Amino acid sequence: MAASLLDASESKDLRRYEFRKLLMGVVARIVVYSPDDYIAKWACSRAFLRIAQIEELMSDYRSDSELMRLCREGHIAPVRVSDDLFLVLQRALEISQRSNGAFDITVGPFVALWRRARQTKQLPSDEELRQARQLVGWEKVTLDPVNRTVKLAIPGMRLDLGGIAKGYAADCALKVLRKFGISRALIELGGDIVLGDPPPNRKGWRIGILDESGKPEKFLEIANCAVSTSGSTEQFVEIAGRRYAHIVDPRTGLGLTKLILVTVIAKDGITADGLATALCVLGEKEGRKLAESYGAVAFFRERELD
Ligand code: ADP
Ligand code: MG
Repeated sequence: MAASLLDASESKDLRRYEFRKLLMGVVARIVVYSPDDYIAKWACSRAFLRIAQIEELMSDYRSDSELMRLCREGHIAPVRVSDDLFLVLQRALEISQRSNGAFDITVGPFVALWRRARQTKQLPSDEELRQARQLVGWEKVTLDPVNRTVKLAIPGMRLDLGGIAKGYAADCALKVLRKFGISRALIELGGDIVLGDPPPNRKGWRIGILDESGKPEKFLEIANCAVSTSGSTEQFVEIAGRRYAHIVDPRTGLGLTKLILVTVIAKDGITADGLATALCVLGEKEGRKLAESYGAVAFFRERELD
């Protein structure tokens, strides 16, 4: 009784704030509840800064990012990297191993071929795929947790954190908000959402699970977890009547050709983001097992297209 009275008086003073900023190639959105205008704005601007910092470290579009420097120099000698990059690499390799390589951050050379195909509307040749394949394989990345260094097995490797970095950045943003005393928060980075405590007087944040047309087909009220959606429905290139999605099957080197949309609910953003991408490649049967092994819940929509 006393607790609920306290809750009621606390929530009376809370106001909702929402901010947006273009980061990591998407419109990043932060929603918080706070009793104080100044703290809300300050905390959210620091949370956006933290996301920008992670983008700077992990972007594969910036040649000066820490990740790209690692790609250039990592085959010569072990490269010491930031705590952030090391942690993301560690988690990414763990998901690679547990997904039998369906998730693989070394797919950069395949992704480069996909990006070219998107522009030229032509698939890579067998020879190009063969060459790219020699540079791909998560076992070619070796981490040394004691010295926090990373070694790449051969020159020309290209790491791509596009399938996991946004989830991690959202986790980091939530941590920043908590340091400012804000616990009722939602951070959304494209298809990756991280949730803190619920809005006042609610059990959770109302999150829609999308169907393949992008419309929510059901709603969940959840809090203190993360929700990521990945799939082939938004980003793809169509060549000779076939669609190739921006998620690559490391076994073929080509974008996924099936229609798939996966939503994962996991304990944190890095897990949900990485798993959502992995589950798209694995498909429902294998994917569900992997999700369960992480204590995560997955929603699948899947159809072969021809
Ligand atoms: P999005 O970033 O579009 O929300 P994802 O989290 O599924 O969706 O990430 C897709 C990105 O992951 C691709 O753009 C590419 O950079 C990278 N990627 C593609 N295929 C794989 C794969 N098999 N394993 C890991 N990362 C991948
Ligand atoms: Mg992902």
